Order: sequence, then structure tokens, then C-alpha cells
Amino acid sequence: MVEIGEPRWRWGQLAEAIYRQRIAEISEITTFTKSLRQRLVVEGWSVGRPEIVQVFRSADGTERYLVQGQGGDDLTVEAVWMPEGDNGETGDGSDGREVSDARDSEGAEAGSGRQRATICVSNQVGCAVNCQFCLTAKLGLQRNLSAGEIAGQVVAVLDRHGVEVGRDRVNLVFMGMGEPFLNYDSFMGAVRLLVTEGGLSPRRMTVSTSGIVPGIERFAHEPAEVRPKLAISLNAPNDAIRGEIMPINRKWTIEAVVEAVRRVQLRPRERVTFEYVLLGGVNDRPEHAAEVARLVRKSGLPAKVNLIAWNPGPGIAYDTPQAEAVETFRRALADAGIPVYIRKPRGRDIYAACGQLKRTVEG
Ligand code: SAH
Ligand code: SF4
Repeated sequence: MVEIGEPRWRWGQLAEAIYRQRIAEISEITTFTKSLRQRLVVEGWSVGRPEIVQVFRSADGTERYLVQGQGGDDLTVEAVWMPEGDNGETGDGSDGREVSDARDSEGAEAGSGRQRATICVSNQVGCAVNCQFCLTAKLGLQRNLSAGEIAGQVVAVLDRHGVEVGRDRVNLVFMGMGEPFLNYDSFMGAVRLLVTEGGLSPRRMTVSTSGIVPGIERFAHEPAEVRPKLAISLNAPNDAIRGEIMPINRKWTIEAVVEAVRRVQLRPRERVTFEYVLLGGVNDRPEHAAEVARLVRKSGLPAKVNLIAWNPGPGIAYDTPQAEAVETFRRALADAGIPVYIRKPRGRDIYAACGQLKRTVEG
């Protein structure tokens, strides 16, 4: 706005229109004078909101979207809408409202017309980290998303579902395609836009990283008002196994990651999440669970563990864990006094579940 000779406060009006009112056309920015609107259109400006170009709907209500990026290329990213969430984003007790929410009914809350859902957002097109069990890895890194493209996915999905921020209970998880901490400025730029302009709470946001230590160190310096909750993709009980399935572990070991996480000043009752993808026969045995319990306890962090049964994908040679193995693993951690949740796979039938995002155009 300043560049085109407008006062700086016009930016506030513009941001309000894009992120609160979710307008998609300059002509809809009613706080701008008519002549300003006309001038912007004549000069070739547009509201570059990412567009949902394809929708895949799962039997369980999950929707996967192909979202057209704005990089001037034809690359799309994926975002996912999960009504009721997947058990992965709650349960750390950091949100006081959780207690009363637990009495609410599933999905749209009883009689109130309120919605609850979790939106999973992408940070990069593809990913360079190359975790062996993840389908996104197969794409390699195509490019980074801009802050506007990341926040824009959220705006597009909120708009599609008519979400009213403040009335509806929507969580965001930055767990889609890509590694947020390898696109740090755009990722945090998006969070700041969504918090300061969109009115969303960072306590209802969780970012997941494969363990990019310099990124975690930067994250530790973010002020609490704009800092999402943190999840670490642990996925193994020790460096030997982790190094096999996540090559990034050869650069930053579990101990280095934990050390960096310790620098994050958690809010009262906030916990760090350790995500753990269970790969049949690889990291899902009782001795692994015992090792994970020791590791989490030794870290001294207020933590919880989210178990995710591996979701299969073409060309990846792992096995889904046996149901008994998942339950035995869960019980071992619970018995060791560690809060542990099993993530529900959401939208597996449409390739929307964790680690399945790969711009698949098949439903
Ligand atoms: N790049 C970030 C966030 C995206 S991946 C990260 O790795 O943390 C989000 C989660 O999905 C991670 O915990 C990852 O370990 C998990 N995941 C990846 N592939 C998976 C698969 N095939 N099945 C289940 N979970 C998977
Ligand atoms: Fe990238 Fe996360 Fe997939 Fe690893 S699990 S390849 S970091 S998206």
C-alpha cells in the first residue's frame, strides 16, 4: 500500500478484508473508497487468494484439497479438513476450554450450530528431508511456499466451510506437505498473519518438525503470542533406528533435538508432542516402547506421545503394524505414566492421511 502511495493504515483494512472477511475480489473491499478500488483494478492488482481446484471427500467426512499455488507455476499443494480432528491436536491440557469441550457432542456441537474441525496445512511443495516411510518425500523439494500461500490455504478452507472464528473450534496443524522449519520465515509469517489478522489462536495451532535443530532454536525465541505448539517427529526409540528411517538424524541426533526443544519456554500446562509412526516390525516392539518411555522421561520435558499407525503408500516397503502391537505399545507408555494418544487415520481412502500427501489426483 505504501509503495503505491497509500497511507500505511490501508494495510490494516486490506488484511482485515482478506483474513477476517475473506473477500476474494478487490471490488468487495468495502472499507476502500470506490476510486481506490477502481484504481487497484486498473493497475492490475488482484487479491491473490489460493484457489481450491479439486476436492476429494472421504467416507469419514475428511476432505482433501488440491490448492493452486501462486508462484506463477502450476504447482498445487494439499490441505486437509478433518471434522472433529484426529485425536492428535488436543489432550495436552494447555487449553482450559478443553474440559467443557469434552462434554460437547461430536462434530457440530449440540444445538449450537458450532463446528469443530482440524485443518492440516502444507508448508512446501514436496519435501527434501527424505524420511523413508513418507510419500511426500518421493516428490523431492519442488519449492517453498510463501507466507501468503500457507495462510491462504487456511483462508480458503475456512471460507469453504463457512467457519466463524470465535464461534467455531478449529485447530490448525502445520503437518501437511513439507518441513516447516526448512521454510521458517514463510511458515512463521503465515502464523503471524493468521494470528494478528485472522484472529486465530496459536494455542490451537501445532507445528510438526522432523527435528531441524536451527529451526527449533529460532522457534524457541518466538513470543508466546504467536508461537504454535510444538510436535517432534520422533518415530524411533534410538539413533540407530531413527538414522535408518530418517536420514536427517545423522545430522541432528535425538539428543540434539531434545536439547533444542528444552529451550522453548512452554506455557503453563503446555506439552511437547512426540509423534511416533509405528512401522510394523521396525519400531513397534515392546522393547522399543520401553526405550521410548525412558527417553521421554529422561528428556525431562512435559510431553505426550502421539502414536500413528503407518499409512501405506505406493512404492514404500514398510508394513502397517498389527493392531495388538499398537495397543501394547500404547499401554507400555501409559503404564510408564506418559500421556499417550493413538491418532485416528483420517481419509486414508482418499490419500489424505499422514504421510500420504503427494499431489495424487486419484480420489
Ligand atoms: N515434515 C514435518 C511435518 C509433516 S509430516 C514432519 O515430518 O514432522 C507429519 C507427520 O506425519 C510426521 O510426524 C511424520 O512422521 C508422519 N508421517 C509421515 N509419513 C507417514 C505415513 N506414511 N504414515 C503415518 N505417518 C506418517
Ligand atoms: Fe518431509 Fe515430514 Fe515427510 Fe519427513 S515425514 S519427508 S520431514 S514431510
